[in-house]
Amino acid sequence: MLVRDRLGELFEDENFAGWYPVNGCPSLSASQLALVSVLQFTEDLTDRQAADAVRLRIDFKYALGLELEDTGFHYSVLSEFRARLAEHDRADRLLQMMLDCLVEAGLLKGRGRQRTDATHVLASVRRLSRLELAGESVRAALEELSACDAGWLTPLLEPEWGKRYGRKVEIGKVPGGKPGAVARAEEFGRDGQKILTAAWAADAPARLRFLPQVEILRQVWLHQFYWDAEGRLRWREGTALPPAALRFDSPYDTDAHYCVKRDAAWSGYRVHVTETCDQSSPHVVVHVATTIAPVQDGQLTEVIHDDLAARRLAPAEHVVDTAYLTPAQVERAQQVHGITLLGPLAADHSHQAKAGQGFDKTAFTIDWDTRQATCPQGAVSRAWRPLRIGGHDYIQIRFAKKDCLACPVRAQCTDSTERPRALALLPRQSLHEIQTRNRLEQRDPQWQRRYAIRAGIEATLSQAVRTCGLRRSRYRGLARTHVQHVLTAMACNFTRLADWFDTAPTASRRDTDFRRLCAAAGLVTA
Ligand code: SF4
Repeated sequence: MLVRDRLGELFEDENFAGWYPVNGCPSLSASQLALVSVLQFTEDLTDRQAADAVRLRIDFKYALGLELEDTGFHYSVLSEFRARLAEHDRADRLLQMMLDCLVEAGLLKGRGRQRTDATHVLASVRRLSRLELAGESVRAALEELSACDAGWLTPLLEPEWGKRYGRKVEIGKVPGGKPGAVARAEEFGRDGQKILTAAWAADAPARLRFLPQVEILRQVWLHQFYWDAEGRLRWREGTALPPAALRFDSPYDTDAHYCVKRDAAWSGYRVHVTETCDQSSPHVVVHVATTIAPVQDGQLTEVIHDDLAARRLAPAEHVVDTAYLTPAQVERAQQVHGITLLGPLAADHSHQAKAGQGFDKTAFTIDWDTRQATCPQGAVSRAWRPLRIGGHDYIQIRFAKKDCLACPVRAQCTDSTERPRALALLPRQSLHEIQTRNRLEQRDPQWQRRYAIRAGIEATLSQAVRTCGLRRSRYRGLARTHVQHVLTAMACNFTRLADWFDTAPTASRRDTDFRRLCAAAGLVTA
């Protein structure tokens, strides 16, 4: 109600004109459905509860500008509206409409401070073992083929399929240990292969090959099985499996992927939330990105900057944790968008730096013009050559063996008893300087106080998880999950705006008897 009073209507029907066909029955007001969808997430309501709230609650009617006797709409309309939101970039455009309103009201502007963090989101499907995935993929394909062309499927059925696939596939401990599990997997493999061979036979109806679950079965079979030299179907294991980002975890949500991050392991997605954190204005979420779980945080830094710059909401300072920044990203953010990317770079993992003893990289003088390094003992390096480790470029510098073997302080420089000291530097001078400067700065208490504001994003994620149900995806697929995340972010914004507008004084805290006693004794101020 406060937001309605201060900002008026956040959305207007004209903004949604392109989302609907030009002919047919007039639809319900799209601007109202958008607002109900946001209000729904402020309280983590189901579609039925949200539709009931529109019909029954005066605060919902006030926010939506409805008459008291308005009877609302059927709850299924909300699902249809979300399906529209999941197309193209409509969910992001909806968030942009809200942000435009805030810019107009003077509550949001670019070039301030912003912070970003990510959290994991569990898929809305049952987590399956690889064995269950194989069985469930066959079952899903059989269900779809039964509905589509039962006459074609019937001659293929094996006597044991009714028992094996008649109910959802749940497998606990398999008798016979690992060989027993492999035998069970290859049993599923043969069943799936029979279906796929029949569906791809020349005389099979072509439409069967394009059924979604048949196509998923084909891909699961590519991920999980192979033909050996004797032409037998085999269960893939270990390094023969494709990476987690490629293979499916469930036939019912092929966008959900398995990931491990520190002590958390989950199958689903990752959401990245960016919010403003200036003291003079409400903290609002300005960017939401949803990815499959195995995408690393650092891969989103440039995407976030480009998106914010395109909307004229790029910050002057962007505060992030180590996962989001490398020297190359710090340099790009400054050069392309004029953004100061503030955060601690990954620590120097050399044993000298870890122990805080001996000569780490900072003890060496690097001359990038002559491509030489000078060590603390005054020895000049012998070799300077490019090096590629784990897909990243470095410069490797080596000192002369004769200098290092005769060096009196060798123990402080290298653990090796035979080889000379070597250094690995970033491939360009500018990157090396950013890295050195950042690592020095982050030890400074003033830098640490400036960086401390990042911690506030944890509270935003906590609000989204605990109040709006962010941790678990309500829907299947990346596009619909992103819609949920955008609506969640808008719900958080809504709550924060209401708090910002609410100027009613809060009740002062009542003193306890003991505190009154302490005040009388002069132990605390009253
Ligand atoms: S070990 Fe080699 S690189 Fe290290 S200080 Fe001695 S001479 Fe210099």
